[in-house]
Amino acid sequence: MKAVVIGGGIAGLLAARVLTETCDDVVVLERDELSGEPEYRAGVPQGRHVHGLLVRGGELLEELFPGLREELVLAGAELADAGDMRILNPLGWLAAAPTGMPLLSLSRPLLETRIRRRVTAQFMTGVHVTGLSMRDGVVDGVLTRAGRVDADLVVDASGRSSKLRDWLAAAGITTPEPEVVDSRTGYATRTYTAPADFPVVYAESLSAPDLRRGVAAMRVEGGRIMVTAQGAAGDHPPRDPKGYREFLGSLRVPITELLAGAEPLTPVYLFARTASRRNAFEDTARWPGGLVAVGDAVCAFNPVYGQGITVAAMEALLFRSHGDFSAKGCRDFQRRVARTTRGTWAMSSNADRGWVETKRGGLLGWYLKKWQAGIVHDPDLFRRFLRVVHMVAPPASLFTPVVFRRLAKYSRLDRRRGRRPAAPTPR
Ligand SMILES: Cc1cc2nc3c(=O)[nH]c(=O)nc-3n(C[C@H](O)[C@H](O)[C@H](O)COP(=O)(O)OP(=O)(O)OC[C@H]3O[C@@H](n4cnc5c(N)ncnc54)[C@H](O)[C@@H]3O)c2cc1C
Repeated sequence: MKAVVIGGGIAGLLAARVLTETCDDVVVLERDELSGEPEYRAGVPQGRHVHGLLVRGGELLEELFPGLREELVLAGAELADAGDMRILNPLGWLAAAPTGMPLLSLSRPLLETRIRRRVTAQFMTGVHVTGLSMRDGVVDGVLTRAGRVDADLVVDASGRSSKLRDWLAAAGITTPEPEVVDSRTGYATRTYTAPADFPVVYAESLSAPDLRRGVAAMRVEGGRIMVTAQGAAGDHPPRDPKGYREFLGSLRVPITELLAGAEPLTPVYLFARTASRRNAFEDTARWPGGLVAVGDAVCAFNPVYGQGITVAAMEALLFRSHGDFSAKGCRDFQRRVARTTRGTWAMSSNADRGWVETKRGGLLGWYLKKWQAGIVHDPDLFRRFLRVVHMVAPPASLFTPVVFRRLAKYSRLDRRRGRRPAAPTPR
């Protein structure tokens, strides 16, 4: 069987990695030219912004590429305990506590390049896919600006900018309107030399509907620190260095003080296409054989939650146990993709509904607000929460009687104190 993967981003690479286990031929078509070295490229504009790798994502990558973690650390990635993250939420600093979960901190280009070097598929670069080739209602290849490439299976992994819905529409196949939850978050990132005592991960989280401004800063390879300022509900950080500094200065975390001796290494880069978007391809009535879709092309999450790479890895593993790529088999595959993304989508889109609806996220939103207090006060709750956020424990573990009792206690405590955002001390 010959599989053609559209897009050599993380989802495409991981799909290709698993497909090489069973297919005779796996070809990755990527529109960018790839140099083989970590670098920023046009097809992945998000590569200039912080990319957190969740613990579960790190585990899955290690399973797919044994020894990758060590290789990345040798290449300069920082390895820390997930509990070492310094994060301020609306109520205070999260209770720092060791978790035993390894956290890798590195740039997106380094991660992508090291993964790509280990994928044994054939890479055709500088190839822009423009459509699907179909015969008797079955996808039998792709169309590119240079011609046609045949395939028994086409995997769309072309990311947020995927044109798959248009390509299917051109063949008379209507797909459901995507579900979109847009917190209107803008990113602005600048990279600096890292001050010696700067934490591996340092962040102030956004919180709907009041705390529109936040930041995520991460140490990455090369003794650098990437600082991504984030503004939700249209309150975007600006590109000009002075405005950018002022935006950072307006935060509750004292990040401008921590960066006092740091030298800027780049201009400020912006990114604002952050809406969460889910395509219910599994509900397409006439989904064709020979075609599946994975990664951001199916479900793109608001990046502030750092979920995309981990979900892409979970989806890639679905290829291991899926051998039927008939129309029914492909629709079943998309159902499995939908099940894989369901919990993650529920968590992140629910949190974001607070930015777009006056109802403030319903019961789940209310409950997550209770957690904001719990993870400030209680190291054990912090660990439990982190395990869910990092996808190593199911969301159900946040809903147990022990947890309810403890959350109620902290809720009473905060009511007595008056639930105001905490004025943080540097940490
Ligand atoms: C600002 C930002 C920050 C993010 N931060 C995080 C984070 O902290 N942690 C995390 O896990 N995830 C993060 N993500 C999400 C993460 O980048 C993606 O979920 C993940 O990389 C999987 O994406 P993908 O491979 O589906 O798409 P992409 O990584 O976007 O790759 C798509 C690839 O397809 C190629 N392509 C597109 N169209 C064509 C075509 N027609 N022909 C040929 N090639 C084509 C592109 O050049 C590109 O290489 C972030 C996203 C954004 C936007």
